[in-house]
Amino acid sequence: MSDIADNLQAVQARIRLAADRAGRLPDTVRLLAVSKTWPLASVLIAAAAGQRAFGENYVQEGVEKAQATSTLGLEWHFIGPLQSNKTRPVAEHFSWVHSVDREKIAERLSAQRPEALPPLQICVQVNVSGEASKSGCAPADAAALCAAVASLPRLTLRGLMAIPEASDDPAAQQAAFARLRELFADIRSTLSLPSFDTLSMGMSHDLEAAIAEGATIVRIGTAIFGERNYA
Ligand SMILES: *Cc1c(COP(=O)(O)O)cnc(C)c1O
Repeated sequence: MSDIADNLQAVQARIRLAADRAGRLPDTVRLLAVSKTWPLASVLIAAAAGQRAFGENYVQEGVEKAQATSTLGLEWHFIGPLQSNKTRPVAEHFSWVHSVDREKIAERLSAQRPEALPPLQICVQVNVSGEASKSGCAPADAAALCAAVASLPRLTLRGLMAIPEASDDPAAQQAAFARLRELFADIRSTLSLPSFDTLSMGMSHDLEAAIAEGATIVRIGTAIFGERNYA
């Protein structure tokens, strides 16, 4: 078996164990394989091992991989910072966007989503670590942004996403994820939308803490594909 297939099995085992410890069913946590910086060949190996959902941070790179795999039935998620002049290719080639942090981006994605495709599935990204992170809306603005996304015709509001400040301390990791979970519960009770079911949180080094706090999608790159080389 390839390293990637081995690593996928190991990550699935971590997810199962973490879900079990949290008293959750393992299939309530979806694995998003983050393939940014890795070649198409790596995506194909993971797909052959059964992985369906892939995450990308860079528009051009993600569109190329989505197009090259269009016959394989994979699901492409955009998870990186999104500038308003780059929304069109994202609206045309991805199924999900996890990184909507302002209304203008949401409006453009809705206007540019092709009629032939299902609505784009949206998570609002929230900055739960204050100054430590620049991406995401302020927690106080999340409810209004969610309501705006929910009102747009070609978008489906699915939930919240966060990338907390990196920490080696499981208690600190869990506290940041708990803030997102609490915000999610508040917004869910005010909006009461059945589609609002997703907490996108947890990466290679902190997926256990995220699952303990209710993550429904974990976004895993390094633990599947190896250390990235940005050179
Ligand atoms: C790169 C990235 C990931 C994956 O991080 P790893 O630590 O490699 O698992 C997850 N989410 C986002 C938004 C990313 O940019």
